[in-house]
Amino acid sequence: PALDMKSTLGVLGAVEAAPRQAATLPEVLDWHVQAHPERPHLQLLTESGQEETLTYTELSVRARSVAAGLRERGLAPAERVAIMLPTGAAFFAAFFGILYAGGVPVPIYPPMRRSQIEEHLRRQAKILQNAGASFLIVGAEAHPVAVLLRSQVTALQAIATVEELTLSTSVKLPEAASSLATALIQYTSGSTGDPKGVVLSHQNLLSNIRAMGDQMEASSSDVFVSWLPLYHDMGLIGAWLGSLYYAAPAVIMSPISFLARPERWLWAIHRHRGTLSAAPNFAFELCLHRIDAASIEGLDLGSLRFVANGAEPINPDTIRRFTDRFADYGFRREAMKPVYGLAESAVGLAFPPSTRAPVIDQIERSALSVNGLAVPTTADDATKIEFVACGRPLPGHEIRIVDATGQELGERRQGRLHFRGPSATKGYFQNESKNRELFVEDWLDSGDLAYEAGGDVFITGRIKDVILRAGRNIYPQEVEEAVGEVEGLRKGCTAVFGSPDPTSGTERVVILAETRATDLEIMADLRRRVSEVTLDILENPPDEVVLVPPRTVPKTSSGKVRRAAARALYEEGRLGVKSTPLWWQVVRL
Ligand code: ATP
Repeated sequence: PALDMKSTLGVLGAVEAAPRQAATLPEVLDWHVQAHPERPHLQLLTESGQEETLTYTELSVRARSVAAGLRERGLAPAERVAIMLPTGAAFFAAFFGILYAGGVPVPIYPPMRRSQIEEHLRRQAKILQNAGASFLIVGAEAHPVAVLLRSQVTALQAIATVEELTLSTSVKLPEAASSLATALIQYTSGSTGDPKGVVLSHQNLLSNIRAMGDQMEASSSDVFVSWLPLYHDMGLIGAWLGSLYYAAPAVIMSPISFLARPERWLWAIHRHRGTLSAAPNFAFELCLHRIDAASIEGLDLGSLRFVANGAEPINPDTIRRFTDRFADYGFRREAMKPVYGLAESAVGLAFPPSTRAPVIDQIERSALSVNGLAVPTTADDATKIEFVACGRPLPGHEIRIVDATGQELGERRQGRLHFRGPSATKGYFQNESKNRELFVEDWLDSGDLAYEAGGDVFITGRIKDVILRAGRNIYPQEVEEAVGEVEGLRKGCTAVFGSPDPTSGTERVVILAETRATDLEIMADLRRRVSEVTLDILENPPDEVVLVPPRTVPKTSSGKVRRAAARALYEEGRLGVKSTPLWWQVVRL
């Protein structure tokens, strides 16, 4: 029978401590098995409403059987094993099975729709090739795709399901790994180029989990509710491994389940009295647009105390609208937590204080876009630009803001965000050119632009995506958000990018937006309205507005707009071709 975490916790109570001394992830799991073998760790929710509970012992036993199967098939130490599985019990067993067997897990996203197979294959083959993965763990349904992948990836020798790998006889497993051994290769989502394989050691992961947990005051009396994909750092490390470490039960559903009916996330929080959760900005928008009052009658979100909003630019308006609307359902403003992070720092890098409500900075547009100065302004400044405070560096971590020459900048001056600390990766896997860009002496360059004020860090954009027109910086996400509000365009499906203008030596601002409209007059009207909205923000119209059919704006597997890819398609004259749609954008607003 399905267990309700609330009643389970009532019976078991909170446990005392977390495995502070553990040096590796397997040691963490083993510690919990010793300390409370029957304690529920995972509660998996399926779309049909069924629930499956996994205790620490059950996870460990399943993982050890997978490890035995991998050893039996000759897995060598530190060999990479890719996991291409949807959210489900098999994923968790595979992940720890690989670690117990001495391998390195490489989670990648599973194929979602037939129409996207080609794009999926192309991207996954590149990742598997770079990782030099020799094993691929898949679900039975993805076997044909895996066979195609094998024909394209030279190192790939074996494909198997978790069931095929499960071996009940005991096999000698290797000695415990060192804390500096690689625990995971986390591929970035590839919003600015091809995905890069971030190498993370056990020490990196545990440092990050401990630093985030300390900042959030996480404990075994918390309940984490998550629908985030497990092949991304926020779902894998932030939601799952963080909960595992603190013995906070994790209530997990699949992203597809959430995207189909976003209220499922909120109801799971209600039912299990969730205290922690996390999601990118677009998920809060999805809740605002796709959930009607009738479907959340009686909903109570009062149990939530820390909902991280990060992994992509945070829209101040989303925060205001979400906290306003869901206040009627018990959601406390202080529970909305804008955070900043990146895979190169495991997942988290800056978190706000645990009891503070979101802080939004209103600054003068021209001072920032021309001189890089974040000068405070008033709410009635019609041309103001707003950024959300993401808090301060996690304990033990440092951030500095520098100019192009590497000179450190003071308060309220925009520059490149560098960081260092125990969570920082030692580099990308087999990618020397990107490693040269990543390290600046003993700092890492995030690739983001930011300023600091009053101890908080404010992210203003990705360096590669910021457009430079006539000496002014233009922040594409701000224009994308505003254009997305134009009726008749698909929200969240706009890309704004700069394209070099050889005649003036500056960049032209190009807006690419999806619409279902095909009528020429309607499209002309849409273009006019996009120009007006842009004029309002930038005091200049865009140089070009290109309307394209649904699902043709390129995105990452996590739903981020790939502006550089959009620019390349534009410059090659290939816009509007349905070559890059991914499941995530199919269900966007
Ligand atoms: P790639 O590095 O391959 O282009 P990616 O940028 O999506 O892919 P991830 O590590 O998945 O790589 O995401 C980290 C990035 O997400 C950060 O560098 C930053 O640009 C963005 N990001 C994360 N949190 C925030 C935030 N709070 N505000 C603005 N941007 C954020």
